[in-house]
Amino acid sequence: MKLKCLGSSSNGNCYIFEASDGILILEAGIPFSEIKKGLGFKLNGIVGAVITHQHNDHAASMKNLADCGVRIYTSQHVLESKGLTGHHFCHAIEPMHGYRIGGFKVFAFPVNHDVPCLGFVIEHAEMGKTLFITDTMMLEYRFPGLDHIMIEANYADRVLDYNIENGYVPEAMRERLLGSHMELETTKGILAANDLSKTREIILIHLSGDNSNKEMFKNEVERATGLPIYIADKGLEIDLTL
Ligand SMILES: [Zn+2]
Ligand SMILES: [Zn+2]
Repeated sequence: MKLKCLGSSSNGNCYIFEASDGILILEAGIPFSEIKKGLGFKLNGIVGAVITHQHNDHAASMKNLADCGVRIYTSQHVLESKGLTGHHFCHAIEPMHGYRIGGFKVFAFPVNHDVPCLGFVIEHAEMGKTLFITDTMMLEYRFPGLDHIMIEANYADRVLDYNIENGYVPEAMRERLLGSHMELETTKGILAANDLSKTREIILIHLSGDNSNKEMFKNEVERATGLPIYIADKGLEIDLTL
């Protein structure tokens, strides 16, 4: 099982889980041409695409995928906002429900963003359980037995304060981020609150271009958890096989 990151920021998010029995796409917020390139221009073998929410950095190419016959799994809210209700290949999923998508099992739960947004626990026999949370200010749930964690670490208050004081970002940014994205200490708090005894690695995702610092984020989470930490840069590939 290979995880490929095709993008992980407010410029566009897309991940590919490549199992021996099929491919699951997670988020479609990059140009369709780049998704196709990431798939080696082969659209067969895709079992589905799972989308967290309607923002274009997550959903811009959702319709292109559906129009090519890729099954889309997302909330009714997202389908409505994109005018895709009734599309033959679009399936509405509900929070606190589990779904079988090819060899994958996907459990959806609500997170706290400025629009309705879902988090997922994705399971496959080859990789075990992967937690995926992005575009949320917090996480209300705890999950046992996680083998892999993909978690947003969007900004750090220290970096944001410095940027506001120096006029690099507007003061209003603080209010917006507070209610919609994950601050580094929140990320660390969630990791501390969950049982990481089985966890093999943590992948930090959706870092802010202005208000984060890759090296600092990696070092701090490494120190806090003692686990291998990856930053989800475009082009990152990780073997998630158990
Ligand atoms: Zn986003
Ligand atoms: Zn968003």
